[in-house]
Amino acid sequence: MWVGWHAGAARFAGHFRGVERFMSIFPSVIRDIINDVGRRRQIRHDDQVSSFHDWVMREAKIETHVHIEAAVAPSFYESLKPPSSWLESRPWERAPFNDLRAFIMAWVDLTRSIRKIAEFEALAEEFVASRARSNIRYSEAYFSPADFSFMRKRFAIAPEVFDFADVMAAYVRGLRRGLKKNPGFEVRLIMDALWPSNAQERCEMKVALRATLGHPEFHDEEGVPYIVAVGLGGAENHGDIAGHISFINEVRGMGFKVDIHSGEGSDGTLHRRSVESLSPDRVSHGFAGVSQGYVFNHNVVMCPISNLLLKTFTGFPEEHPAFELLRKDVPIAIGSDDPLLLGHSLAAEFSFLFAIDDNFTRQTFLKIRQNTQARVLAPEVCSRVFTTQAGS
Ligand SMILES: [Zn+2]
Repeated sequence: MWVGWHAGAARFAGHFRGVERFMSIFPSVIRDIINDVGRRRQIRHDDQVSSFHDWVMREAKIETHVHIEAAVAPSFYESLKPPSSWLESRPWERAPFNDLRAFIMAWVDLTRSIRKIAEFEALAEEFVASRARSNIRYSEAYFSPADFSFMRKRFAIAPEVFDFADVMAAYVRGLRRGLKKNPGFEVRLIMDALWPSNAQERCEMKVALRATLGHPEFHDEEGVPYIVAVGLGGAENHGDIAGHISFINEVRGMGFKVDIHSGEGSDGTLHRRSVESLSPDRVSHGFAGVSQGYVFNHNVVMCPISNLLLKTFTGFPEEHPAFELLRKDVPIAIGSDDPLLLGHSLAAEFSFLFAIDDNFTRQTFLKIRQNTQARVLAPEVCSRVFTTQAGS
């Protein structure tokens, strides 16, 4: 009898630990979403989610949709002087957001805290360190020098306006330092040229990108560039699509790949027009066309938690198009997008999918990793950290 009581207590304690772990995996806004799904359908038990999360934390991961500025720990930004706009709340305390625009305002507010060139270096270096802590062996990450130069000036966001090329170089210096300190991890960069950029700004970006070609500081010891692609982030904007097309074609001619944010805050028709106009190598988000039967199925990276917390996807979470595409065996990848501002991590993104969908298993994670690895933009760099097979 005593043995029985003991075993039962141990089981109970084990379950309780599972629940506590579950509480620490997700912030309350994400737990609320999971519980809401649980009112409509069977979801996984907290201890199952905890054990999946422990497993996925340990697994080697690849991520191809993440923004450096919003993918470091809050402690990085807490070490900087807070702008007065942070008095009421820090930008990472503001999720969920009312819409994409509200999110962009929080993003802009986050960037206000960076006031010195050395802080871009520190940010990039810390990004690599955070990858290492999360066992994300290979990342292709967006970075946004245009936010601190052109946008800061155009919208009077902060008094310290930097030169675009100086900021770009500072990120790369920090990245190199971070990679040196964290052997076994690799990161390549996607320079976000921003949907709202204008002709003059695109022209300056082109000049700066051209100057990196063949420049040793922008290449690793094997001669592979650190900046492998140009992105278009922010709200999709076709006001000057002809200008974007010629810019994208020119940078492609320089050897950069193209990765656009599309089908996030827009509808499926605009998403399709973006893809058909720009012929990207990869699409970020791309969920908007799915319900209309359109999907860029060659290389798409979805970020369901981002879509839910920015309310760019307003259906039931368990009906996010990512699940439909996984069922149809479309080779999607999964990204965390802005883990600092959304209060989660890449591992938590997978644990969330596992929590709300019975068909999402460890095998699904492994399949997604394989899909991602097969579609990275710098395969030679990714294969350095995955010399045989991912996770081996
Ligand atoms: Zn993004």
